[in-house]
Amino acid sequence: MKSRRTTESTASPPTASASAMGMNSGAGNGAAQDALKKRMGGGTWTVAAGDTLSRIASRRYGNAALWETIRDSNPDRVQDGGRLIYVGTELDIPEVDVPQPAAGVSGAAGTSGAAAAPPVAVDPIGECPAQLPDARVTAFGTFEVYPDDYEGLLPRSHDGVQMVRQARFLELEIEAETATVNPDIDALAEDMSFATPETVVIAGEQVRVASKAEAQHVAQMFKEIKEVYGIHVDSQAGVDAVKARYDKVPATEIEKLRTKEWEYKEVLALHSALGHFAPLLDTQVNRGVRSVSKVHQSINENEADGHVDRKTMGEYFGNTDNVSIFTAGTESTTDFEDNQTQLEATAIHELAHGLMEKEVTGYWQATGYWKNATTPVKDVRNAEEPLTTYGHTNASEDLSEATMFYFTAPDTLSYSCPLRYAYIDRVVTGWSKQPDAR
Ligand SMILES: [Zn+2]
Repeated sequence: MKSRRTTESTASPPTASASAMGMNSGAGNGAAQDALKKRMGGGTWTVAAGDTLSRIASRRYGNAALWETIRDSNPDRVQDGGRLIYVGTELDIPEVDVPQPAAGVSGAAGTSGAAAAPPVAVDPIGECPAQLPDARVTAFGTFEVYPDDYEGLLPRSHDGVQMVRQARFLELEIEAETATVNPDIDALAEDMSFATPETVVIAGEQVRVASKAEAQHVAQMFKEIKEVYGIHVDSQAGVDAVKARYDKVPATEIEKLRTKEWEYKEVLALHSALGHFAPLLDTQVNRGVRSVSKVHQSINENEADGHVDRKTMGEYFGNTDNVSIFTAGTESTTDFEDNQTQLEATAIHELAHGLMEKEVTGYWQATGYWKNATTPVKDVRNAEEPLTTYGHTNASEDLSEATMFYFTAPDTLSYSCPLRYAYIDRVVTGWSKQPDAR
């Protein structure tokens, strides 16, 4: 069974379809009616300070009353029924047919049925100005801090500013306070210009960092992954795992396999992904993940004509309990428009293969789509379908995909796949209640 994810095999999660707000209701057919509507919207809008959904609707549709269309098209990005949006959030602006005022239509008003769209009272719900996240500049980075109950995806990290929730920010502060200054990195930093990201060696791994603070943070994260989670960050282990799995591939291809330096953002993502599984991880028990690696490329298939591929983002190797992530995922936004979330999600998916394998049977039995671990039931029409295209591969991939959304976009999962959400929620809640149970 393949346990890989590629940049092209996973469809985007379903999103709520754009509502045209009843604009088609009562539409008589005929050109006269059509002439009074104009196709408007399309593309995106990045929320600026002072924006409200009504104002955005007014700018893009010429009609503030259409704010609900924008709200309904962005269920993961607006909160509190549209009262709350955040500066920097990128909103989808669906194309809709907007009724146009009859001005300019020849003939006196009232002589035909074609009147201007009636003025619509703007619901004040859309009139709450966008909030600014709390900006924090620290020795360990620059952040925009969102409340813990901020629903859905955080805006894209950009220009070195990282988007985090309050709880995560507090964790980072504690980490930074307790980080013992690594004398090797201090010495290293003397020689670094940091004009651009530089590759340094931290705990035996090549890592690209843009500042001494990032290097220290990476050292701290590697230390925690090893000492608290009992997992080795060891990229050569990933190369060895690929070689062991793809043993029919010619040596000329195998020779091309090599480790790849970590990007700082990839270490952040891996560390966050592991954090979701923290109650399952300790140094004493074999849990199905013993090492994590950054490898340049995997192999496409274990055949005599197999070759290195450029699409696999991550892969779990059960033979050596290794999770590897690959260069194909470094800039990916396959499932999530925010690359940082994508990186974390890919790591969660692969970790779930190793850490939640014993849940696969209970999962497919509870969710009704699968007849067994690999075959769907005969009639899937009434079954809850896997969330993503790739989740249709088999029950194990289905569980890894759903777990990835459970931790990064829980609203999307609970909305589209309530049975899947409920099953994983029960499992995860069990971890925290019984930290010794495995
Ligand atoms: Zn997988």
